[in-house]
Amino acid sequence: MSSVAIIGGGLGGLAAAATLAARGHDVTVLEKNNWLGGKAAELKEDGFRFDMGPTILTMPRVLERVFAEAGRDMSDYLDLRRLDPQWRCFYDDGTVLDLRNDPKEAAREIGKLSAGDEQGFQRFMEVADRLSDVSDRFFFWKSVEDIRDTMNLKANMNLTTLSDVMALRMHRTVAGQIKRDVKDKRVQQMLEHFIQYIGSSPLASPAVLCGIAQMQQDEGVWYPMGGTRAVPTALTRLGEELGVDYRTGVDVSKIEVENGHAVAVVANGERLRFDKVVSNMDSVRTYRELVGGKAWQGFGYKNREAACSGIVLYLGLDRAYEHLAHHNFVFSRDPAEEFKAIYDDGVPAPDPTAYIAAPSRTEPGVAPAGGEALYILVHTPHLRPGQDWSQMLPAERAKIMDKLSRAAGMEDLQDRIVVERSLTPQDIHDRYRVLDGAIYGLVSHGRVNGAFKPGNRSREVRDLYLAGGSAHPGAGMPMALMSGWIAADSLHQDATRNAPMVAE
Ligand SMILES: Cc1cc2nc3c(=O)[nH]c(=O)nc-3n(C[C@H](O)[C@H](O)[C@H](O)COP(=O)(O)OP(=O)(O)OC[C@H]3O[C@@H](n4cnc5c(N)ncnc54)[C@H](O)[C@@H]3O)c2cc1C
Repeated sequence: MSSVAIIGGGLGGLAAAATLAARGHDVTVLEKNNWLGGKAAELKEDGFRFDMGPTILTMPRVLERVFAEAGRDMSDYLDLRRLDPQWRCFYDDGTVLDLRNDPKEAAREIGKLSAGDEQGFQRFMEVADRLSDVSDRFFFWKSVEDIRDTMNLKANMNLTTLSDVMALRMHRTVAGQIKRDVKDKRVQQMLEHFIQYIGSSPLASPAVLCGIAQMQQDEGVWYPMGGTRAVPTALTRLGEELGVDYRTGVDVSKIEVENGHAVAVVANGERLRFDKVVSNMDSVRTYRELVGGKAWQGFGYKNREAACSGIVLYLGLDRAYEHLAHHNFVFSRDPAEEFKAIYDDGVPAPDPTAYIAAPSRTEPGVAPAGGEALYILVHTPHLRPGQDWSQMLPAERAKIMDKLSRAAGMEDLQDRIVVERSLTPQDIHDRYRVLDGAIYGLVSHGRVNGAFKPGNRSREVRDLYLAGGSAHPGAGMPMALMSGWIAADSLHQDATRNAPMVAE
């Protein structure tokens, strides 16, 4: 078996490490920060506990598969609770709409708001179901870089494949698909927000990504007790049991390539030889900063734009807002204006959507008795030249506080804060070494190619693999975890067969 270096201990890196160790490889994780889990970090202060990054866990089957690799049962490591409602939505006109866990109840709630849209929502979910099925069969669990990797169109062009290709609705965007099915603007705005899980505009992302809605409705929204931080903790424990060597405070500055193969890394200035390397660092920055040369030229010519960034306020309060659900969206007054600002103009939205997590609804221990540990996330553009977030944050914070007191029934919010911390796009950029402060890897814009990301098996360098939110199949907890599994599986296949090691 191979000796493998994993650069970065984010969710993709940890999933790859556990999977490879379960298959008998000798694995070393090299992480520059002094914690493992990357964006899935936590903040504790004065009796409050906050997840700092991801808060919504979907598709737990991906995580289950990583534990199953080692013959373990995920439930021995994680206590997951299914949430209902999945989201509570607050609109500028005062409407409150719950996205219920049960799809029939969700449709009924929508029907109460807008009669014809009960069926419209069901129609949309049928389309999303078909798209999610196509994704499952052609896109997931294998290294994919473009459409050639998904379907062997020349060899398999039969009626079934043709019908799958048609189902992808390549001529349509996410927003276009939603508008065909539901008529009420508030319901449209809610459905458009599924694509915010991957930090892209519904007006520019391909309709195939509507499948995300089905994955959430069908498989649920989950909260791991102890917060999403419990996920990297559980994966690290699994890896330790399997013999993974975790090294924190270790910064990798180079991947050495000899005769087209990755052969070593330079970590804290020391050259360490490995048979194979998995990079959980941002894929663009891996090629640009760690590999360089012809490989970077080969990779870099493709248009690789960062997905959106965001600011997070972590607010410890001396009161609870019982009208909040665990997950809430306080929607912008005008989604077109919001998406144009963030994705086209590259400036903060004038009236943004705020996502609020109130985890004490499920786990009261996250705040002192009677209090609340609120997490408020507002999407912003990825970092643009000249944007200085130390100067921009106060105005954006004021906008958010105003929005929440106006549209989410939190008039006294400012006066109830006893602990306050924040995270800006610049912090995200520096802490996790991502591309332009991106929260969710690379943007998914483009009707035909929008869903494709750099493949997990490098086409440029043999024995180099990519895991994480900026590699296939993309960002978000389940996708980053799957990406780690695919990188590990591709590496294992290459290590255990004599055939060419790189996809042709
Ligand atoms: C504020 C915020 C909210 C989010 N909300 C959600 C949500 O609700 N649901 C959801 O599913 N997803 C959410 N996400 C996205 C999700 O967190 C990410 O997609 C996922 O965690 C990314 O994992 P990753 O494997 O790409 O690794 P990352 O978390 O990006 O970690 C990469 C690691 O590599 C390390 N590293 C990089 N370069 C080097 C180097 N050269 N040497 C050594 N170490 C290096 C970094 O320090 C980092 O620890 C959110 C993210 C953020 C920031």
